Amino acid sequence: MVAQTRRMMPPMEYVRLSDEAAGLDGVIAIHSTARGPAAGGCRLWTYDDAGAAMADAFRLAEGMSYKNAMARLPFGGGKAVLRKPAGAFDRRALFEAFGRVVEKLEGRYVTAEDVGTGVSDMECVARHTRHVAGRTALPGLAGGDPSPWTALGVFEAMKAAVDVRYGGPLSGMRVAVLGVGNVGAGLARLLHQAGASLVIADIDPLRCARLAEETGAAVVPIDAIAAVEAEVFAPCALGGALDAATVAALRAGVVCGAANNQLAAPEVAGLLVERGIAYAPDYVVNAGGIINVAAEYLGESEGEVRGRVLEIGPRTREVLEAAAGAGLPPPVVADRMAEQLMMRREVVPV
Ligand code: NAD
Repeated sequence: MVAQTRRMMPPMEYVRLSDEAAGLDGVIAIHSTARGPAAGGCRLWTYDDAGAAMADAFRLAEGMSYKNAMARLPFGGGKAVLRKPAGAFDRRALFEAFGRVVEKLEGRYVTAEDVGTGVSDMECVARHTRHVAGRTALPGLAGGDPSPWTALGVFEAMKAAVDVRYGGPLSGMRVAVLGVGNVGAGLARLLHQAGASLVIADIDPLRCARLAEETGAAVVPIDAIAAVEAEVFAPCALGGALDAATVAALRAGVVCGAANNQLAAPEVAGLLVERGIAYAPDYVVNAGGIINVAAEYLGESEGEVRGRVLEIGPRTREVLEAAAGAGLPPPVVADRMAEQLMMRREVVPV
């Protein structure tokens, strides 16, 4: 079976970022604003040239449109990509300059942290604009570290996927977690509490050792984890964990994890279907973090975040059951659902 690939639409709009004195060089890509302001984090990374940074921004902004629509958030998709200056640089000046550009967009783009940026950077951005989230949480309100919410969403999705594939609860299942950083470790703790047993792998042996002591997890080398005897494989490290060789080696009947862009190539979705493996699409299951960021921007409570994150379970079930019914890979079905949702305008109370 050949999986249909997502169509790469050009973003509606992009803004080049250039402020030599502040070391700012990059782009804000706005892919879609039909549901509301384009929301997506700000990445600070090393790129070979401006073209590579722009291509990454376009790809990531498109991904945010799908993720935000699928999570039913009143936001479109956008992303900022900043080229990390070579050598020492004034971080504060850079993010303040970025904040001034975000402000000029008058709320059409809402930023937050992403790879290479953090809470203190967003506080610098917030000196110049209110169109920023990922700041320090205020009591009772949404905000702060999004990772626990992402972990909870993946956990809820996994419960649904396991029920669809095996017709039962997570208790007594064996879950192989690749990458036990902020999200992977949080997920492992939830699984341990739910009575699942764990096999874990990470390039950081200390993280594995600590988590193994806490949860009784077995630790295996990273190149062995996909092939371990387990019901579920949870990629929670970097993207591209699922290629043809990994899929051929998998013994798990469910793949459900936090990592973005888990499929090394779109056709891997078809290989998973051929092997009878239920793959819960990454952007459907890992939306907990952006749900928290969106709620922070809208001034909502933690309770509202929890309610929306818990919806990730039924949504995952809907995608997997529709995919099985149509004989299509779940990512293809998810993309179609997200594209329908992307057309709808939502009212954003800001
Ligand atoms: P993190 O940096 O805290 O953890 C990543 C872990 O993966 C680390 O322990 C690292 O040592 C390990 N790792 C890196 N390369 C590896 C490799 N080749 N093999 C095995 N382990 C490796 O990151 P995180 O915040 O936990 O995010 C994990 C994944 O989830 C990422 O792909 C991220 O994009 C995605 N994600 C995170 C969030 C969030 O809220 N943090 C939201 C959505 C998606």
